Amino acid sequence: MQLGDGRESSNVEDRRGGGGFGGRGIAVGGGLGSVVLVVLALLFGVDPGVILSGGDPAPARTETQGGGAPPADDAGSRFVRRVLAETEDVWNPVFQQMNRRYQEPRLVLFSGAVQSACGMAQAAVGPFYCPGDQRVYIDLDFLAQMQRQLGAPGDFAAAYVIAHEVGHHVQNQLGVLGRVQELRGRASEAEGNALQVRVELQADCLAGMWARRAQDARQILEDGDIEEGLNAAAAVGDDRLQRRARGQVQPDSFTHGSSEQRVRWFRTGLQSGQLEACDTFRPARP
Ligand SMILES: [Zn+2]
Repeated sequence: MQLGDGRESSNVEDRRGGGGFGGRGIAVGGGLGSVVLVVLALLFGVDPGVILSGGDPAPARTETQGGGAPPADDAGSRFVRRVLAETEDVWNPVFQQMNRRYQEPRLVLFSGAVQSACGMAQAAVGPFYCPGDQRVYIDLDFLAQMQRQLGAPGDFAAAYVIAHEVGHHVQNQLGVLGRVQELRGRASEAEGNALQVRVELQADCLAGMWARRAQDARQILEDGDIEEGLNAAAAVGDDRLQRRARGQVQPDSFTHGSSEQRVRWFRTGLQSGQLEACDTFRPARP
């Protein structure tokens, strides 16, 4: 990627180094936030019980980080700030065109564990978005590990993950997450999973749409970047992850979509650059 000396977003909160347990009021709820966390836990093969600590306020702070926070301007956090700025520069005008205002999300960098309005999350859950506090949570170490272990290397693969989480924020702003949460309330488990798949595929499409628009405006992509993104989308398909984790595939339990679906919707957003193209709820089979 060619982020060069691009703008750095000021919406990043650095809570690495154990600073994540500040005394903010924690609104732990069931609802979609938890669903998103559970989904991510499944995605990365973690027991959801580990991350949903109910309403426990302020858990004991672990001292495993060696006490020192990394410098606030390390390469990893600069990269995240630039990618986030790119998403802001894409989504602000898209919302303006709809006569709406894009409320930029905050992005929290954390290590170890973090308290969110969706509950307590361990870094092992991977990146996630919490609708309750409109924040994207990213653990840089985990991102690096994911790139190694899932075979999705490259800076654009990491950018794709961030853009996907920001995509959930866009869905939240557009009211998609709220409507889906309502529908899930009266759906069977299989139907609920199918709805969640459409949510995830739409976030993939929005990530593609972001890449297209950022590219058109500022030429951020280099040779091989698109392949990195497509490869990352394929690497986190439910079928591939389930096969890795259990040796077999159970489509009913998919919550993110197959590798083929994720690649296809990322590509759809990338090729069109249009919100209308990302209606993953319309086709009978997304
Ligand atoms: Zn997602």
